[in-house]
Amino acid sequence: MALDLQDLSVTPKDATRPLFAPLRLRVTAAEVVTVMGPSGVGKSTLLDAIAGHLPPGFRLQGSVSLDGRDVTTLPAEARGIGVMFQDAVMFPHLSVGDNLAFGLTAAVKGRAARRKAVEAALDTAGLAGFYARDPATLSGGQRARAALMRTLLAAPKALLLDEPFSRLDASLRAEIRGFVFDHARARGLPVLLVTHDSEDAAAAAGPVVTL
Ligand code: ADP
Ligand code: MG
Repeated sequence: MALDLQDLSVTPKDATRPLFAPLRLRVTAAEVVTVMGPSGVGKSTLLDAIAGHLPPGFRLQGSVSLDGRDVTTLPAEARGIGVMFQDAVMFPHLSVGDNLAFGLTAAVKGRAARRKAVEAALDTAGLAGFYARDPATLSGGQRARAALMRTLLAAPKALLLDEPFSRLDASLRAEIRGFVFDHARARGLPVLLVTHDSEDAAAAAGPVVTL
């Protein structure tokens, strides 16, 4: 698996210059590439463009490919790109298990099989027995692990991380970072990580791109 950006740039509709210089980048299977840069430079917008969520106020140039297939014009749900944000938002009116089931790929069919897939993901996240829990009762670490599982249940072909560890306190941060990287690598996912933290970049142990 590989994620390729070919001269990708994003320009606000009322601007003449793109937010950042056109980006040419290949992220290979199980590799974590770190994207750094000052606030407002366009890091989140870059991830939006890759995932297919570019707000209407922007225009995209260049292309995004997954495993050699150009996905630039596909809608987000057809791209197979998973995203994790700073706030691991869960639907408050759904149980933890139903939140994870919401992410689960349609390829897993049948009520029992889907329930089993979610139970297995909860188990992996150290949340065995948490299916019926109210998401509001989760700790920060539990919430972050559950959010990763929800993203992975969609069976993505690449993973984008937008400062997903920045709200976690220092002790938890290293643990969750390790958890996320281990699971992404075990699945051979190319990972693009946006962060302000040089410790995140060091732990990613991959190339660093500065916008
Ligand atoms: P970063 O993640 O690097 O801090 P962003 O990608 O969030 O930066 O923002 C890049 C630029 O685009 C900023 O100038 C920001 O104000 C602007 N911006 C962000 N979201 C929108 C939007 N939905 N519509 C128009 N401009 C936006
Ligand atoms: Mg941002």
